[in-house]
Amino acid sequence: MSNNDILLGIELRCCPICGKEHNVEIRKRKTEIKIKDSMVNYDEKYYKCTNVSDDEDNEYISAKMLDENLLEAKDVYRNKKDY
Ligand SMILES: [Zn+2]
Repeated sequence: MSNNDILLGIELRCCPICGKEHNVEIRKRKTEIKIKDSMVNYDEKYYKCTNVSDDEDNEYISAKMLDENLLEAKDVYRNKKDY
């Protein structure tokens, strides 16, 4: 597990991982994506279910989050190109 992920907050929502409604952690971490021909480092947001152990698949990204992550990556990409 990476140690550069940061807890942003918690949100009460229906969790698709354990199938219950509970406080899910909102976290972010540095990640890399390839846009066109360059690698872009950006902050990716994701939800983490604390009802299952770390050995299991306990992370997911909602459709809204996916959009936000993509926008963030494109922003970084644009800024990078300006320099
Ligand atoms: Zn859960």
